Amino acid sequence: MSTGSQYDVSPKNDSKDAAFDVVIVGAGMVGTGLCALLANAGMHVALVEAQDTPLLPETLDLTQPAPRVSALTPVSQRLLTQLNAWPAMATARVTPYHYMHVWDGEGSGEIRFSADEAGVPVLGHIVENDVTLAALNAQLTDHPKITRIDGTRVEALQTTATGRWLELDNGRELHAPLVVAADGARSTLRELAEIAVSEDDMGQHAVVTTVRCEKSHMGTARQVFLAGEPLAFLPLTVEGDDHYCSIVWSTTPEQAKALCELSADALGDTLGSAFEYRLGRVDVRDSAYRFPLVQRHAREYVQPHLALVGDAAHSIHPLAGQGVNLGLMDAAVLAEEVIQAWRRGAPWGDERILARYESRRRGDNAAMLGLMKGFKLLFGAKNPALTLARNVGMSSVNRLVPIKRVLMRQATGERGRLPESCR
Ligand SMILES: Cc1cc2nc3c(=O)[nH]c(=O)nc-3n(C[C@H](O)[C@H](O)[C@H](O)COP(=O)(O)OP(=O)(O)OC[C@H]3O[C@@H](n4cnc5c(N)ncnc54)[C@H](O)[C@@H]3O)c2cc1C
Repeated sequence: MSTGSQYDVSPKNDSKDAAFDVVIVGAGMVGTGLCALLANAGMHVALVEAQDTPLLPETLDLTQPAPRVSALTPVSQRLLTQLNAWPAMATARVTPYHYMHVWDGEGSGEIRFSADEAGVPVLGHIVENDVTLAALNAQLTDHPKITRIDGTRVEALQTTATGRWLELDNGRELHAPLVVAADGARSTLRELAEIAVSEDDMGQHAVVTTVRCEKSHMGTARQVFLAGEPLAFLPLTVEGDDHYCSIVWSTTPEQAKALCELSADALGDTLGSAFEYRLGRVDVRDSAYRFPLVQRHAREYVQPHLALVGDAAHSIHPLAGQGVNLGLMDAAVLAEEVIQAWRRGAPWGDERILARYESRRRGDNAAMLGLMKGFKLLFGAKNPALTLARNVGMSSVNRLVPIKRVLMRQATGERGRLPESCR
């Protein structure tokens, strides 16, 4: 219960857009997840989103897989289940994978993981981002504690004694003891708060598209490293057909541009040959899209009355499929700290409360960002000694089940003290 402290600024009348317990800017997967967690605990939340109309399960076009997908870990699945979003996602389309196979295109090194070996029912699920977002949005619809403000951008941010004022481009003003930036990698709110970021241009663009392969994906997520360029074939099962895959190829900006300009047939041939025809011939079923890959890490996640989550706090190379999983974990940890403070009548926007969120999340995010950089350097190395060490290392690890089990626990999100909502 919110107490009568100076932080009890819940809407007291019908002008619901005046004051909230929390305002979240950005209704991507992380912002909507956070919004549901806070509102389900009883906090009044405003959710501000630049796009006009929220996606809903009934408005999804499932005839063709959407090009943006994420590999969701079992820990993220538990959070989405707790939020009651998972059943709608499972009804729409989620593809479990029980095996992972990663190999070095420059040598003989390879590593295989299986759910059985890791002692877990499943290693993860490949899910279209739209499917996750629509299911989360459905949980927010008609929620008595949530005010959605769509089709609006934030224009100005001011600090007051008890919180932050936000000015929106439609002229509305919002006040809350806590404002959360969930507005993605190029966060406007982060900029307005003058929070610096360290930027690491990975020198690559990711090309994504959907393909149908000659052979079944067999519930396996596959990735080959081609001279430092990871090419992933992520399994998708479309209406019972398990020959579909979502492609993520991280390559030079020039090659990414060239790939996107190829005809579907030529792109299919290029993908098939780069992937050593492990899944046979490749038939491209969508346009190819490309995204520049820049790793960013905000120098601070919190200020008084302000917190950053998800890509607004960190964006990461997709080669290990961790981005949204890290962001959902930020949301779960921030919600846990804020709800605990709110329930005991403590000032939930106070920097000391928010600092607990930062101290629980920064290390994990920083470690993943560092690991992705290390992978890219290791697999990009041309030095023959390093190439040999890399291949011998991979094959040796492949034979060491206990080490693989530790690696798999990390990759499936079972790291550190998990928030209650993810246990
Ligand atoms: C090619 C590729 C493959 C990937 N694969 C994976 C994977 O397999 N697994 C994984 O975990 N992650 C993956 N990721 C990363 C993942 O997609 C991101 O980490 C995730 O989408 C970030 O979610 P978010 O909610 O933080 O931000 P976003 O999804 O960027 O959402 C931000 C929201 O804020 C809104 N917004 C922006 N500015 C404003 C403003 N000024 N005012 C109001 N609203 C605003 C936007 O419209 C948007 O809705 C991949 C990324 C790429 C590029």
